[in-house]
Amino acid sequence: MAYVITSACIKDSLCVDACPTDCIHPKQDEPKFAEATQMYVDPENCIDCGACVAVCTSNSIFPLDEVPAEMTDAVAKNAAFYAN
Ligand code: SF4
Ligand code: SF4
Repeated sequence: MAYVITSACIKDSLCVDACPTDCIHPKQDEPKFAEATQMYVDPENCIDCGACVAVCTSNSIFPLDEVPAEMTDAVAKNAAFYAN
């Protein structure tokens, strides 16, 4: 399982700093940051620790099986950000 960031994200990067596996991008110094509308979790490297949820003030992050029904498109969007 992995955590998922939804469109409510305000890109303040608090979760990026909290993530122990560096699996939330784009970071502010990465090329894709400016164009990104939200942050994304790399599902391959997320260890389900929940540290990101604890610091997110916009309630944008959910465990995969708790993503609200109206936001399930975020699951594919998070994964797609890391697809090559
Ligand atoms: S649950 Fe943990 S490992 Fe997964 S994105 Fe959040 S902080 Fe990173
Ligand atoms: S902490 Fe929440 S609002 Fe901030 S960048 Fe992460 S997901 Fe987005």
